[in-house]
Amino acid sequence: MTDSKPKRPKNLDVLSASASCPSCGAPVKFSAITSVMSVCEYCQTTVVRKGEGFTAQGKQSLVLEDYSPLQIGAHGEFRKMAFTLVGRVQYQYEHGTWNEWRIQFSNGKTAWLSEDGGDYTLTNNAKPSDLPDYHSLAVNHRFPYSDDEYTVTDKRTATIIGCQGELPRLNQSGEELYAIDARYQRKFITLDYENGPDNSPVVFLGVATSLEQLKMQGLKDEQARNKTNLTGEKPITKLDCPNCGYPVPHVKGASTCLMCPACRGEIDLSSDTAKLVTVHSIMQGAKTTLALGDSARIIESELDSVSTTRLNDPTQEAPSNKHHDYTIIGIMRLIEVGESGAWTEYFLYSKTDGFLWLAEESNGWFVARMLNELPEKSGGGIQVLGKTWRRADSYHNRVTYAAGAFNWQVNLSDSMKLIDYRNRQEVITSEQNAEEITYTLAKPVSAQRVYHWFGKEVKLPELEVRPVPQKEPMGLHIKLMILGAILIVILILVKSCDSNSVSRAGARIGMGLIDYWLGDSNGRTGFSPSGSHK
Ligand SMILES: [Zn+2]
Ligand SMILES: [Zn+2]
Repeated sequence: MTDSKPKRPKNLDVLSASASCPSCGAPVKFSAITSVMSVCEYCQTTVVRKGEGFTAQGKQSLVLEDYSPLQIGAHGEFRKMAFTLVGRVQYQYEHGTWNEWRIQFSNGKTAWLSEDGGDYTLTNNAKPSDLPDYHSLAVNHRFPYSDDEYTVTDKRTATIIGCQGELPRLNQSGEELYAIDARYQRKFITLDYENGPDNSPVVFLGVATSLEQLKMQGLKDEQARNKTNLTGEKPITKLDCPNCGYPVPHVKGASTCLMCPACRGEIDLSSDTAKLVTVHSIMQGAKTTLALGDSARIIESELDSVSTTRLNDPTQEAPSNKHHDYTIIGIMRLIEVGESGAWTEYFLYSKTDGFLWLAEESNGWFVARMLNELPEKSGGGIQVLGKTWRRADSYHNRVTYAAGAFNWQVNLSDSMKLIDYRNRQEVITSEQNAEEITYTLAKPVSAQRVYHWFGKEVKLPELEVRPVPQKEPMGLHIKLMILGAILIVILILVKSCDSNSVSRAGARIGMGLIDYWLGDSNGRTGFSPSGSHK
């Protein structure tokens, strides 16, 4: 954290009370009227306000360095109302950490800014409810709330790591949290079981947002961040593998799990120091078309239906004058359980456009992104983005190889249940386990375009092209050579169909191509970012 405090606009400098830390005497601020506790920034003592008096109530653990660009005192605006960050609760759950930042608006009202990796949600208290207790709800359960039918998309328990600044209720390090996320179309609510898992939850209504939208200022390391942008450096850093020393690329603040491509060591990043979890000896190496660290420049409109603009508002065209620089930070090989089909997924990150998936399958390339809208069930299929998607396939996948950085804990033994829904050439894949369900939209993209993005030469499969001699009429031998080449192509196609005839992947090389152009394949053409994202 930088020493210089961000300078707030005048209208945010409201102070409701100030106390001396009962433990070290340093000044402790209470800006928000609703704050009941404030953590001394010098000695981490929890100072509790009771009426006119202040008492010390234990010490908070220090928050972990999670490379969040936010810090207490940073400020921005939401719907033209200025706000400042006054407090923070940092949570740890099975797959990593996230922050809840307490924000105070210039009119004295407060809300929360939830930060998970690079995802931001503004949440505020919603209508009270007598919703079921934590144990009675499971992923995919539906319940009515405020005239809408919500579906549970995420269920988890978490522990408070530490607190900073001022907070509206007494929180202590080590305290447990039970939370459920639910969605209805673009609406998002969190059920916070702050009175315990056996009682009704407190409901928070959320709005997805970004630091850009919030016009955030006074961010941590702003100078350093600007400097890297000026020199055109990638926002990707390297971390030396604690097992073998190999520099593994990762994104500061967004990666929670690292897989070393050199020693297959799994590195845990959910604490202050990188720790080796295990070395996956069963993991087989994989030769992939694209490599970790490869970078691509993509014009936003080329992503079309999976562009951020279009996913946030389906009626909006993606801008054709805006490009984003992506870097491959993770690579996975997956198989379909019980089948011999296998495919590669590349996990891409852009500082300006977030996460994107690229899948390389036997029937072509797909570009994909997670939906931030919950599809509606309709008949056997789903309805979302103004279209109807019919259910096409259901299967389980498993990760057989993983290298690089991911924003969830990649698990090499776990299997997720996937369902593909199709509309013409596009596929929405739902991916579900006991903790969550996510929906990802994938659309086909030509190999030429993928190579162009990455600035690579288009590689034609197995055909050696000999230079044709100049100034020579097309003689019989050339005609024979062309005929020969055509024959070789046919032979390769037939051979690949033959040798893979038992596999659905192989069948797709021949048959799938036609289906693919017609936009109607029964094969698995869907996309499955096999992971869990809080
Ligand atoms: Zn103190
Ligand atoms: Zn290593």
